[in-house]
Amino acid sequence: MPFLSGSELEKVYGQANRSGYGFIASNIAEPNVLIGLLRAAQEKNSDLVLQLSNGASKFAGDGDPIRGLRVMSNYIEEIAENYDFGVFLNMDHLKESNMGLIKAAVDEKLASSIMIDASKESFGDNVRITREVVDYAEGSGVLIEGELGKIKGVEDEDTASAEAFYTDPEEAVEYVKRTGIDLLAVSVGTEHGVSKGKDIELKVDLVEEISETLAKEGCDVPLVLHGSSGLVEEQLVQVLDYGVCKLNKDTRYQYEYARAALDFYLEHKDSVLPPEGVKDDREGFFSDTDWSPVKSDFDPRVVSRKIRERIKETAKNLFEQAGSVNKSLYT
Ligand SMILES: [Zn+2]
Repeated sequence: MPFLSGSELEKVYGQANRSGYGFIASNIAEPNVLIGLLRAAQEKNSDLVLQLSNGASKFAGDGDPIRGLRVMSNYIEEIAENYDFGVFLNMDHLKESNMGLIKAAVDEKLASSIMIDASKESFGDNVRITREVVDYAEGSGVLIEGELGKIKGVEDEDTASAEAFYTDPEEAVEYVKRTGIDLLAVSVGTEHGVSKGKDIELKVDLVEEISETLAKEGCDVPLVLHGSSGLVEEQLVQVLDYGVCKLNKDTRYQYEYARAALDFYLEHKDSVLPPEGVKDDREGFFSDTDWSPVKSDFDPRVVSRKIRERIKETAKNLFEQAGSVNKSLYT
């Protein structure tokens, strides 16, 4: 099944919200993580929400984010044909300065949803910038996520905010009404980047209050938690009951990627590195010695398979925690 439109994603989030489960929105920048995630969703019969940031789009496009998005979007669409669950692509943390990428994503239907992050601006500017993106996407079927409050930490290789500013429930109502967004990212104690569950003061009461205040005013938008990599399972489960249906994870996969590669190469060090006393003659490809590197260990596809497997196992666990297992609307 190819990746699906925002109107389908709206149904998926709506169903999740009504039933008290959510989705891990998993960041990708290259195919190994993507394939691990697709296999996890297949084994767990879960729909899948993928995310690309501006930085990841630039990375994939060798410096050009629009080409990078086209490449990744087409790659996902082609590979997803082999699977029978819903696959969605969200654009993560796009800024006012990424308007070219936003327009390409909408015009060329390259994504299911877009997050416009103007949370660092004043309330008025946040409303204005977010509204502009909502207006641009109108009628395209692409959902728009806005953010109110500031989430502490490092996002997409930049330090976003050194301090957290929590989302105010009343302000959230005004923000949703004035912008017309489809999803609202809130700041309730999670942090972008490496953070630990034990250090996170997750404000579950605030999530509940935001959710109830919005519902009372007829602004039932699903909530999004960024920086959820460090959340422990019980913290995650708590927020799912209060209207959170998208939990962003990036850092956790990055770490598992590095660990899978490191574990493999440490285990097969002798297949790659010449032993002591043997000259490191890469130019001559070790022709003067009896020792040879082992191709079946240094072929990049070998370590890539390990990475895909590790990402798959990690994601399966996270999908279990989010409750999206066996809930695909498309099988
Ligand atoms: Zn984020």
